[in-house]
Amino acid sequence: MILRFFIILIFLISSVFGAIAQDIDFAKKIIDTLCSPSMYGRGFINEGDKIAANYIKDRYNEIKLKPFNDDYFQYFNVSLNVLPKRVYFRINNKELVPAVDYLVSSASATTKGTFKAVLLNKDVISNEQEFEKFRNNNFYDKVLIIDRKDVKDTIQMELFDALKYYNIFKAKGIVNIVDGRLSWRLSDAIQENNYFIINLSREKYNDTIKEVTVDINGSFYKNYKTQNLIGYIPGKSKPDSFVVFTAHYDHLGQMGEKIYFPGANDNACGVALLLDLAKFYSKPENQQEFSVAFIMAGSEESGLLGSKYFCENPLFPLDKIKFLINLDVIGTGEDGMTVVNGTKFENEFNKFVKINDEKKYFKVINKRGESQNSDHHYFYKKGVKAIFIYTTGGKVEGHSINDTPKNLPMTKYNELFKIVTEVVSTF
Ligand SMILES: [Zn+2]
Repeated sequence: MILRFFIILIFLISSVFGAIAQDIDFAKKIIDTLCSPSMYGRGFINEGDKIAANYIKDRYNEIKLKPFNDDYFQYFNVSLNVLPKRVYFRINNKELVPAVDYLVSSASATTKGTFKAVLLNKDVISNEQEFEKFRNNNFYDKVLIIDRKDVKDTIQMELFDALKYYNIFKAKGIVNIVDGRLSWRLSDAIQENNYFIINLSREKYNDTIKEVTVDINGSFYKNYKTQNLIGYIPGKSKPDSFVVFTAHYDHLGQMGEKIYFPGANDNACGVALLLDLAKFYSKPENQQEFSVAFIMAGSEESGLLGSKYFCENPLFPLDKIKFLINLDVIGTGEDGMTVVNGTKFENEFNKFVKINDEKKYFKVINKRGESQNSDHHYFYKKGVKAIFIYTTGGKVEGHSINDTPKNLPMTKYNELFKIVTEVVSTF
């Protein structure tokens, strides 16, 4: 009798752990696939966005989500400057390593050649004679080196910004020296520039810069067709009412023909969690009274463009959304989780805290106010009760080539799944 009980106990324990392990395996497989070289960083170069979208479409089909139209796709157009070809950067005689030593801004114009360098730093900007000499340069065939070290004066800082973002002296290009980690972004590439910007890590180069050699090949993709993917599980008694989960599946794509940004934490893990949630709610025993919709947004990285398009062209009325949870960068959790708009929707935020006090899923749940930092933003602006959850802790480097599945701890993936489903079950 005792032995039998023991065996049953072992069986129960192993089935519980088996189920958890399977969830993580499902998520890891999705993250590995989305971050593989065959997805090209889920950007526009080599149509990485479409390859990723088709992969998600297949998962939606397996889960048997219902589409709102004929299929899950909602198309929209984006114009973006990209760097599909060679990227080369040399200072004096030293060739630098892309994505390690420097990053070329995606907004950069096609430029090839060797150019004399002109330095602007604290010594130049603080000395009238030096600054006069600097200003008298003909910049059209020169590269401006910006070094903000020790510049604290507000007006001086504004001038540095104006030089970088508006190129007021019309230099051929700008090399901006960066302290600390380099991070790439797309949001400034929605317009064509007529100069290049390179962000150079100070650690990697601290010699005098005399001349700069570049080969940068920008290409402006005008009205590139990309997509959101939307599916849902109809509610039992109130199918017109929705709880919505959003996560962006796009990432930064490529910088040149060789380097791609995998985006494991940002946001392959959010996609995995959304698919996990879709799988869960599609089981008859977990079907809710209200409908549960899943929006995988495109072009988040170029300025929340997919979710913005959805909010302007919704497939179901936005005022029928009871609650929206956006999941982005959720692959850690050692230090806790944070809820953007937690201060705006105290009732809902307190549900997370109450469950967490009981179950101790997270060390702490932080709340923040409004922020334009992910896909919840345009929904919130349209009056939807929308929050954005991300996890904190771990040593993940965002917007870098090191945001890989291997470096992603997935510490609180299961806990996040549980707390989210437990909060939703109170609606
Ligand atoms: Zn993101």
